[in-house]
Amino acid sequence: MTLVIDGCAIATVDGAGTEHARGHLVIDGDRITSVAAGAAADHSSGTRIDGHGCLATPGLVNCHHHFYQWITRGLAQQSTLFEWLVELYPIWVRLDAELEYAAARAALAALALSGCTTSVDHHYVFPRGAGDLLDAEIEAARQIGLRFHACRGSMDLGRSRGGLPPDEAVEDPDAILAATAAALDRYHDASSNAMLRIAVAPCSPFSVSEHLMRESAVLARTRRVRLHTHLAETVEEERFCHERFGCTPAEYLDRLGWLADDVWLAHCVHLEPDAVARFAATGTGVAHCPSSNSRLGAGIAPVADLLAVGSPVGLGVDGAASNESGQLLPELRQALLLARLRGGPAALTARQALAMGTMEGARCLGRHDELGSLEPGKLADVALWRVDGLGHADVADPVAALVFGPPAPLELLLVGGRQVVGSGTLLTASEQEVARGARRAHRRLVERVEALP
Ligand SMILES: [Zn+2]
Repeated sequence: MTLVIDGCAIATVDGAGTEHARGHLVIDGDRITSVAAGAAADHSSGTRIDGHGCLATPGLVNCHHHFYQWITRGLAQQSTLFEWLVELYPIWVRLDAELEYAAARAALAALALSGCTTSVDHHYVFPRGAGDLLDAEIEAARQIGLRFHACRGSMDLGRSRGGLPPDEAVEDPDAILAATAAALDRYHDASSNAMLRIAVAPCSPFSVSEHLMRESAVLARTRRVRLHTHLAETVEEERFCHERFGCTPAEYLDRLGWLADDVWLAHCVHLEPDAVARFAATGTGVAHCPSSNSRLGAGIAPVADLLAVGSPVGLGVDGAASNESGQLLPELRQALLLARLRGGPAALTARQALAMGTMEGARCLGRHDELGSLEPGKLADVALWRVDGLGHADVADPVAALVFGPPAPLELLLVGGRQVVGSGTLLTASEQEVARGARRAHRRLVERVEALP
């Protein structure tokens, strides 16, 4: 089945930064077969999509999220990260598989509608007797139709042992490692066109023991899968690491043997210059979450410094409880603005922001050979944005229109050549039904918390 998108501007985000003011893409099955300037040759047997007035980019890659938080949005509105966590943990431990499924569908729908074709989810709350939460979100991703990297997260350091989460929110480390290995056996697909992969992802230095951090890395490396965690998000975390480990968060991970090119880390707001150099030397990736960092007042990550030394820096929306928007396209603009607040107006360009949302994210996930750019042979994950309306039509540079301008209407979203969004409408589920399901799940969760003695 051949699909031709014709007449659009194209930002390929390939190694040379190739762009076409007017060009075409040809897609055969789940792969791109041609990307070039000018009109497409006659493909009378296939489907032709008129791309006039649109900009084609690679589908966006979301490198960090917590889907379950969709049903706990709008809470702890003025809190720091630690205050916010302490308020939310007791609610999150009332989660079950049914609520997880409803939350994940909503989070995935919001991602698809904002141009995302591949998403990570980092799930680390597994209450006893809650059912199979990982399976629930995997089923949601399959239905919405996004490429999915599920991170089997974990917490084993409860408050009684000096951690931040309540003891009821943590699991036994042996049970965690067994469940993670079982998830790898059951779900992980290493093939180049995989729709589903699993990563190993203990939650953070203040909710996970040193033992579990080390054993998680051993498991990931034995199984040749990727490793993920939160790092250096706030000054409170930095203080925690100095008091408990006598070093910075980055030095702590380095000491555990974590820093390497099979690892990507969420946030990395508070990095010393020598940590930036260590990330570069080891190929460690970063998931920059600019809206979440702004919402929690966490600080501004040194993104321009990391990009300058060649570290992969992708974008993440982060959990919806610290980024109620849950949309990925606006993170490009937010990343641009924050980088400029930190480093001046030349600190980050619109094209660098687009690369962070696409190719850099693919690098974080180790999938730069098959995702992240529009090139022949790559998977057909494509976003086609309308840039001919009020918000964008008079901006001559379509990439600047997309990044500097308001969120552009999404004309088409392809994941492996399959249409997931058409004319701004989600095609794989009813947006209204997904929203109603999320509202019901939120109410049920609140009722459970209110029923507590
Ligand atoms: Zn997070």
